Amino acid sequence: MKRIGVLTSGGDSPGMNAAIRAVVRTASHHGMTVHGIRHGYQGLLDGDIIPMGPRDVGGIINRGGTILRSARCKDFYEPEGRKRGAAALEAFGIEGLVTIGGDGTYRGALALEKEHGIRCIGVPGTIDNDIGGTDFTIGFDTALNTALEAIDRLRDTAESHDRIFYVEVMGRRNGFIAMFSAIAGGAEYVLVPEVPTDVDELVRSLDRARLRGKRSSVIVVAEGGDAGDAATIAKKVAERSVFKEYRVTVIGHLQRGGSPTAFDRILAGRLGMRAVQALAEGQTGLMAGVDGRDVVLRPFSDAWEHSSHYDPDYAKLMQILAL
Ligand code: ADP
Repeated sequence: MKRIGVLTSGGDSPGMNAAIRAVVRTASHHGMTVHGIRHGYQGLLDGDIIPMGPRDVGGIINRGGTILRSARCKDFYEPEGRKRGAAALEAFGIEGLVTIGGDGTYRGALALEKEHGIRCIGVPGTIDNDIGGTDFTIGFDTALNTALEAIDRLRDTAESHDRIFYVEVMGRRNGFIAMFSAIAGGAEYVLVPEVPTDVDELVRSLDRARLRGKRSSVIVVAEGGDAGDAATIAKKVAERSVFKEYRVTVIGHLQRGGSPTAFDRILAGRLGMRAVQALAEGQTGLMAGVDGRDVVLRPFSDAWEHSSHYDPDYAKLMQILAL
């Protein structure tokens, strides 16, 4: 394989740039050239494709977002759209693709490979850590630390004013950011989408915390739960509790940006490098991920078939340490 393409697709995440850098420089190491495809699959259909050399990816390892931009592309869901994409790849002499994104991005890559024989290797880039086949996705650690910083700051005020603070964090349909930031931030309670919300239990838990001498509480709420957003839950709790005063903070998209942590940069480097090596070996239909200490290649379908990592041990840890 002489020339490969790289694109970022779906939601952006911190560390995508470090992954692009790793792809371009590893390809160069193997004597391959790289073309960057801008705006995800949309750019592929539009021929928004540029050559990228090792110098073009200098100074980006510490930058959040993605210099290639990202987009969602409706036409790529259709065979006709993917046909245009395959034609663009042929026109630019691109023989294989590294797709950095989430499970939607892999579904698109899988269809492109099946219909047009384009070799595709995925790299998991999303803050949500909701992709099977890897212990961690690129961007999760950065988002987690952003959420944690917010929790630490809110705790200061919660303690100064003896208040209940609800903090809503991202995670799409899983509670990874919520559970990890709650444990790391020493929160009193966490609500995750994987566990049905029990408002009465939360009320009792807050009452018990007061009886144990706790003057303030921080409750971390993941988006996407069954009982609605943090504001809705806070209101329900206040209606049933003697504690009527509370504050709600939604961290929102602040979690998506920012300079990637060392962990995310190194992860991006390892997975970006492995993806290019896989293409050089002639492999396809796989995603680079981490399993324990090892970098592994897993079928794309693992991304959606094994996507739930909920581990009740963390809930137990949370509960005991919140005493
Ligand atoms: P993510 O990759 O973060 O999960 P999306 O689900 O938005 O993000 O997917 C990114 C893009 O991948 C979509 O805009 C679309 O172009 C393409 N895609 C997603 N699912 C499919 C599919 N089933 N078939 C073909 N292309 C898809």
